[in-house]
Amino acid sequence: MHLQNHIDGRWVDATGGDTFDNTDPANGELIATVTKSTTADVDRAVEAAQRAYEGWRLFPAPKRGEILYRAAEVMLRRKDELAREMTREMGKVLAEARGDVQEGIDMTYYIAGEGRRQFGDVVPAELPNKWAMSMRHPHGVVAAITPWNFPFAIPTWKIMPALILGNTVVFKPASYTPLLAVRLVEILEEAGLPKGVMNLVLGSGSDLGDHLVTHPGVALISFTGSSETGAHISELAGRLLKRVSCELGGKNAIVVLDDANVDLAIDGIVWSAFGTSGQRCTAASRVIGQRGIANELIDRLVGRAKKLRLGHGLEDTTDVGPVVSKSQLDRVHSYIPVAEKEGATVAAGGRISREGALAKGWFHEPTVLVDVKPNMRVAQEEIFGPVTAVIETSSIDEAIKILNSTKYGLSCSVYTQNVNNAFRFMRDAECGIVYVNAGTIGAEIQLPFGGMKATGNGHREAGRAALDVYSEWKSIYVDYSGRLQKAQIDVVEKTGMAP
Ligand code: NAP
Repeated sequence: MHLQNHIDGRWVDATGGDTFDNTDPANGELIATVTKSTTADVDRAVEAAQRAYEGWRLFPAPKRGEILYRAAEVMLRRKDELAREMTREMGKVLAEARGDVQEGIDMTYYIAGEGRRQFGDVVPAELPNKWAMSMRHPHGVVAAITPWNFPFAIPTWKIMPALILGNTVVFKPASYTPLLAVRLVEILEEAGLPKGVMNLVLGSGSDLGDHLVTHPGVALISFTGSSETGAHISELAGRLLKRVSCELGGKNAIVVLDDANVDLAIDGIVWSAFGTSGQRCTAASRVIGQRGIANELIDRLVGRAKKLRLGHGLEDTTDVGPVVSKSQLDRVHSYIPVAEKEGATVAAGGRISREGALAKGWFHEPTVLVDVKPNMRVAQEEIFGPVTAVIETSSIDEAIKILNSTKYGLSCSVYTQNVNNAFRFMRDAECGIVYVNAGTIGAEIQLPFGGMKATGNGHREAGRAALDVYSEWKSIYVDYSGRLQKAQIDVVEKTGMAP
């Protein structure tokens, strides 16, 4: 298979003729060769998107919505095929890959409905015979830069709201997941999106990123990825006063209080810490357990982690797939000696798995670290792998303090049967997403998604909030009095003034 760029409605190779390989992280098999773009390809994509913008922004929004509805139908039809390709491309187990595709379907249906909403306000004016209202206005060309861990869902979070509001798009997916990006563009093409509205540029972020971000034709950069890249993009875009939306890293925690249902908590921790091999921005990489139940919690968590079966995500027997790449595997594993040096103990896992068929892929054992103190690096830094750190605490107050002690603020959860504790936690957690008696993963698309503090720059994806990222507000006043009226200066003396 060979994967190409999609520019101005055509599938084309990059100008330089170079390629890179797309491989299965579970066994190293080649999936596809991928065209490797240069900055000249970025220029072509942005120019195509600029040309398409005038027509697209004037195309009625309900009709844009109909195209997205059709795209969602195609996604549904191709769901299983997309999920299988995703598992091969980035490793998550098939059930989770299906969930990723389903999230993209949900998002596309939801946003399609915005074709007939996009509400603005009509408000009373303070002067007679004057009309006051607001409406949304698209930005122009949106650069959508996405990570590999949700290779279908995350692009839809950006591309669908961008399109429904009348923007055109240049999509730069992660280099590890070009196939799912190609599939998404094929689906939009099949659904009838006009040429040039959606352009795809495959290639390395470090080669293309700065050029795309600073390109004068790009009005908004919507980025999801690491905090380092997000800070770099924000700096470049900020100097040019460009709009930029960043969804970045996390150091999410599950708090388990003494009054918790421990069975439920253990299920939530295992799912949140080791699902997608811990490579979710919302993964529970910390567990904060109150002293009364901490020993039981650790024993049972360690027992469950040891039983998880590593393997190819397409096999029914697999609980945990590979991590995405060798460099990611090395990075994850490098935290084990860091943890031990700081005084933590490996209670489960801790090793790279090389037995049998696993030797061909990038597998790390599900790992539980104990004796962890809140200020240790493993309790502060995002690891982005199947590693979770258990911290013991004396009270809910201390638990919340520990929860809030990292620079991130994406997702958190509390397990408690006490309604007062639940509400205090909901109020005081400095996170964009809070769960009660559920793990830290599994957000639904009809509510805002994103984080506080260093997890982002204040924007949110999904829900109604997504519309605010992809549009500017325009306030419109229509004075039909036939004379000069001065807001804040004219004194209106009588009600019921004649026209
Ligand atoms: P990353 O290395 O920052 O890459 C993300 C995207 O940015 C990729 O498409 C990458 O391209 C591109 N890129 C790299 N350098 C760039 C540059 N200088 N300018 C512009 N683009 C550039 O992140 P990742 O490793 O793919 O993803 C993992 C991170 O994403 C984790 O930190 C995770 O927490 C975060 N994440 C956050 C959320 C959220 O909603 N908060 C959701 C999912 C993931 P290449 O692939 O070609 O390098």
